[in-house]
Amino acid sequence: MHWADAFASKLSGEQVVSTGISPSGPIHIGSMREILTGDIIHRAIRDRGLPSRFIYLCDDMDPLRRRYSFLDPAYENHVGMPLYTIPSPEGEGNYSDYFLAPFLDVLEKLEVNVEVIKTHSLYAKGKLAEATRIAIEKRHLIRKILEGVTGRELPDNWYPYNPICAGCGRVNTTRATAFDYPFVEYECRCGYRGKADIRKDHGKMPWRVEWPAKWFALGVTVESYGKDHAAAGSSYDTGKRIIREIFNGRAPDGIVYEHIYLKGKGAMHSSTGNLISAAEMISFSPPEILRFIIAKNNPSRHIVFDPGSGLLNLIDEFDRYRLSYFGNGSVKDEDFKRVYEFSRIRRYESSIDVGFRHLVTLIQMYPNEDELIRAINRSGHRTEGSDAALRVRIESARKWLEKYAPDSIKFRILDTEEVVSLPEGSRPIIEKFLKSIEDIEWSAESIHNTVYRIIKESGMNARTGFSFFYRLLTGGDGGPRLGYFMSNLDREWIKERFAFCLKKC
Ligand SMILES: [Zn+2]
Repeated sequence: MHWADAFASKLSGEQVVSTGISPSGPIHIGSMREILTGDIIHRAIRDRGLPSRFIYLCDDMDPLRRRYSFLDPAYENHVGMPLYTIPSPEGEGNYSDYFLAPFLDVLEKLEVNVEVIKTHSLYAKGKLAEATRIAIEKRHLIRKILEGVTGRELPDNWYPYNPICAGCGRVNTTRATAFDYPFVEYECRCGYRGKADIRKDHGKMPWRVEWPAKWFALGVTVESYGKDHAAAGSSYDTGKRIIREIFNGRAPDGIVYEHIYLKGKGAMHSSTGNLISAAEMISFSPPEILRFIIAKNNPSRHIVFDPGSGLLNLIDEFDRYRLSYFGNGSVKDEDFKRVYEFSRIRRYESSIDVGFRHLVTLIQMYPNEDELIRAINRSGHRTEGSDAALRVRIESARKWLEKYAPDSIKFRILDTEEVVSLPEGSRPIIEKFLKSIEDIEWSAESIHNTVYRIIKESGMNARTGFSFFYRLLTGGDGGPRLGYFMSNLDREWIKERFAFCLKKC
């Protein structure tokens, strides 16, 4: 059974699936695992016939922890301030919205239907006021739980509430001193003293209390979270006790997911810049692939993402799943149907029929866009009525070639009259090929068969024989499968090119 169905099969009644991220930097494909895991479970729950609500909490009240390397030095002054109060690194608006916007755009493209809730608005609308009040009133009990589970000591006058200083704007430099509902009195390291109204976004609970408070306030029943939160003594451990002992509720069923690593570079982190952002990824890869990586792998397995040739293999694999789903493939995965259903993006599904690997080859053969489209049509792929989608895919393939393709995949078709050195023994083979070229049915298979026959008849090693053709066409000694490659070139042009080489090289 697919992991999401197995998880959903243990649930009953109405569900609220929650995910969340602190938008402190570009949201990378590692953190996409959080929301896509949630999305897949939410779909599995609905497929079981249970009502389900799917929410994404954007923790925009978290403070900026430090000035990350991608930020201007001026951001030093904003450290400690809630993200939604910090100006955007570019243009209008605030810091968290700046990083949230491209992420929302990605979600839309991945057909993730999620209710986005900004934490600051939960506070501003008073939705966390009751939880905050309870937490403050039972602060001594919470302190005991936190100290017991984490082994860290908290000060005697500790409050599970961090007011935002009305003087300096920081949320991590204040200390609550007294509570008289709805006001928390506080003092700040900057010298300011003031009162925060817990019914408004004047402050927030610390993460370890806020998490279970959100479960309580929003009725969360399922939560996907990274393994960092799952270790012994972690925030899930304390959260479980806080919701039970303080809020009289029940902890959500958790689904823990592992990291996504970038091949050769380790785990992705927003703060270190070791990442491929989700927006970047879907600019050079078909977006289904992002869903596919998450759907195919059990959340407990770590994933190593290779944006180079690994991506092409992944796309080929996805294509095999698709073919199997529609009844003519042979994928071994017994969950292939569900994996495909959780990966598919219906908007793109029917519109383009041109494989990515094929496109990567054709783009290099035909730098001119119109010729490229003609070549795609010639190769028997349906493009009618899907020009826009096709152009998007062409753009992705171009970008991938430019930024991520390994050199072994790149080539350039030589000009008709470009001089190359003809390898020893190649002349008779090329001559023979030219003689039979008119009789070949111009398809990958018959071109291959003819070339192969000529090479064999000459008693030459096949690999060497094939390399002669690449030398004339690209100057290299290998490339895409030769029959396929040549069938995508114009027969007349090959005649001209080969004749030139025999004469002038
Ligand atoms: Zn202050």
